[in-house]
Amino acid sequence: MPGFELIDDRERQAVNEVFDRGGVFFRHGFDAMRQHVYKVREFEDAFARALGVRYAQAVTSGTAALKVGLKALGIGPGDEVITQAHTFVATVEAIQECGATPVITEIDRTLNMDPADLERRLSPRTRAIVPVHMLGGPARLDEIARIAGSRGIPILEDTAQGLGGRYRGRWLGTIGRVGTFSFDHGKVLTTGEGGMVATDDEAVFLRARAYHDHGHDSNPALPRGEDTRQAGGFNYRMTELQGAIGLVQLSKLPDALERQRANKARIKGALAGLPGIRFRELPDPDGDAGDSLVFFLDTPEAAAAAAADLARQGVGFKNLPGAVDWHFAGTWDHLFRGHPLYGGVPASTLWPESARILRSAIALPIMVRMEPAGIDALIDKVSRVLEAVCQ
Ligand SMILES: *Cc1c(COP(=O)(O)O)cnc(C)c1O
Repeated sequence: MPGFELIDDRERQAVNEVFDRGGVFFRHGFDAMRQHVYKVREFEDAFARALGVRYAQAVTSGTAALKVGLKALGIGPGDEVITQAHTFVATVEAIQECGATPVITEIDRTLNMDPADLERRLSPRTRAIVPVHMLGGPARLDEIARIAGSRGIPILEDTAQGLGGRYRGRWLGTIGRVGTFSFDHGKVLTTGEGGMVATDDEAVFLRARAYHDHGHDSNPALPRGEDTRQAGGFNYRMTELQGAIGLVQLSKLPDALERQRANKARIKGALAGLPGIRFRELPDPDGDAGDSLVFFLDTPEAAAAAAADLARQGVGFKNLPGAVDWHFAGTWDHLFRGHPLYGGVPASTLWPESARILRSAIALPIMVRMEPAGIDALIDKVSRVLEAVCQ
């Protein structure tokens, strides 16, 4: 489900309300002009409550959330941060923005971090581990937490694609020390651009809040112009217009999750008997957010042939295979020039297992608003193509 599916008149009214209350777009100050209404703060509080975390810090994007979260964990030059070969390019960019070295693991059939490979890539310089819950499905958090916990390394969950998913009853993004979220226009909820950093750790929250706001401590005893600071920061502040929209979007999440999961169950059930089809592994099937259905064919060649046939019939994909280049480290030579581990080696050779898995996969988007007739037509097209390709 992309949040843009959910947009209706309520988002428009929420924006109008910001205009009606003085038209203050800034998250701080102008108290009387805005009639003491603070939409970004309300969105942060509602988000924290919905996910059961103590603190949520709104920022300008999911990419900014990653950087702010890493900064709040104290990541800097000389540190290594481990993430996975299947993610959006932003995860690696954020690590590099902090001056740290991205170390990248293979994935397994969860499409997320392979814990055995994580173990192999640890070093004395590993300062954070960033599993990414791709396409709504949880990473193997038990194994990852065991490896991280035994060495005292914090986990930051990149939950940009995992909002609404759970792992053993807990929301994705609330299990590691930090969780980060994206509200760009293709994500589970949208504010156009936007992101959130969630944590239960007060010290991490205070560093995140300050870093996203030029280092401001937000000392309640002082006017903003005289505010105290401990460390430098940057500007990743969300606007009130985004906060107002985010609040409305968030209120629609429970119903949307229920509907997309029902649509997915119907499609998955109908495709389960097809020859040659294997579904993505879900470490906690009950926790699947349900916004995509991923299956593997036996070879990359079979997947490419099936995808071409499906595309000809107007079937759309979610990242795989169409946008694999933006979601697979094996295509990011542009980021690895001069890299201490990967520079000078063609990226395409570095994660062969991930390449094979990703190039054998097809991801179908699952929408909230799917009519029964549309679902039946999709099932019919996929069934006929797979029967032809896999016979
Ligand atoms: C979208 C995405 C991001 C970045 O979020 P933006 O809001 O677009 O900056 C980071 N990580 C993953 C896995 C994503 O899918």
